[in-house]
Amino acid sequence: MAVIVQKFGGTSVGSVERIKAVAQTVAHWQARGNDIVVVVSAMSGETNRLTDLAHQISSQPDSRELDVLLSTGEQVTIALLSMALQAMGKPARSYTGSQVRILTDSAHNKARIREIDDARIRADLAQGRIVVVAGFQGVDEHGNITTLGRGGSDTTAVALAAALGADECQIFTDVDGVYTTDPRVVPEARKLDRLTYEEMLEMASLGAKVLQIRSVEFASKYNVPLRVLSSFAPGEGTLIVSEDAVLEQAKISGIAFNRDEAKLTVVGVPDQPGVAHRILGPIGQANIEVDMIIQNVGSDGLTDFTFTVHRNDFCKAYAILEKVAQELGAQEVSGDEHIVKISLVGVGMRSHAGIASAMFEALANEGINIRMISTSEIKISVVVDEKYLELGVRTLHSAFGLEKTDT
Ligand code: ADP
Ligand code: ASP
Ligand code: MG
Repeated sequence: MAVIVQKFGGTSVGSVERIKAVAQTVAHWQARGNDIVVVVSAMSGETNRLTDLAHQISSQPDSRELDVLLSTGEQVTIALLSMALQAMGKPARSYTGSQVRILTDSAHNKARIREIDDARIRADLAQGRIVVVAGFQGVDEHGNITTLGRGGSDTTAVALAAALGADECQIFTDVDGVYTTDPRVVPEARKLDRLTYEEMLEMASLGAKVLQIRSVEFASKYNVPLRVLSSFAPGEGTLIVSEDAVLEQAKISGIAFNRDEAKLTVVGVPDQPGVAHRILGPIGQANIEVDMIIQNVGSDGLTDFTFTVHRNDFCKAYAILEKVAQELGAQEVSGDEHIVKISLVGVGMRSHAGIASAMFEALANEGINIRMISTSEIKISVVVDEKYLELGVRTLHSAFGLEKTDT
């Protein structure tokens, strides 16, 4: 008998009607002879609502208590879905993360799964039950409730699929698959039938929020076939698999973008050994993640040093740099919070030259100034002004012929 893990996101369980519809879908898959484990998110808007409540009490709520609060969202959904299944005559049982024992580290609000005890789930499946598990949450070795970061229910589902050796992990959401770019920004975006783990990982890392990054890492590591599909409309969705299972490789598979970046520059720093370390050392110590880095060619013994961080960390990073600049005798610190990153992704880039220059030409033709560039084997990213985000993404989408073809 096949084991399938099905995950339903916030919009898919956003009302009582939706929860009943999900119960129908789950029951349908079970009736086809599969063992089903369902992972659900909080009802749409609920995690935001709970976060807002916490911030009305304190500007920096305690991270342990925040996890106790946020985990309630998913707990509501598991109980309601189990009731909906039972009302249809389907035996079902719900479990919170700590009841399953999804053991995580103790990094509250961004915990990582260490181990899953699948004994209770297997026992329930053996008795013909549908098992409903709360996404996004776990428990640390001291018994504290933890959460896995926004979008974390995807990771719960894939980790359970890996632990159970499931035949497929199905991520049901509000779009019918992974598209060449966010269909909310480019209506001409095309649904992809297949994508490699590596491409999906780049897309997710570069800003495509359709899957949490950790979930793709897990799927790749344990070779879990991952399918993204709609909970609203029928269809095969997008299958994410290893590279050898994808026959024909496109040059470019997609465009991702990230609105959450900000850029900082230390202007006129002495061009000496150790400067990069003295600038980025204190940034790292403050737990600020750095994305792109550029150091200009020096002239007159001075150089400029630029890097990007998450927009939430901008003010903190700026304050640190002002101090560092003084110590280094640099001329000044400048920053820009209104930038975005647009990235082209595709494993086919490995064997095709000229993609970067075609990308730069397309952007130049629209008068879009590129502020930073970074490349790796299967992606090219540019930083541009925020106001050019939509235009830039649409321009590249059509320049690389990614739109729907009418058949
Ligand atoms: P859920 O609540 O089901 O977890 P999410 O909002 O986390 O759903 O993810 C689905 C959303 O991801 C879509 O509504 C879409 O706007 C967005 N998205 C961004 N990039 C892509 C992409 N390349 N393909 C499909 N969806 C994308
Ligand atoms: N409810 C959590 C969130 O909104 C987790 C998830 O939906 O994956 O981020
Ligand atoms: Mg999500």
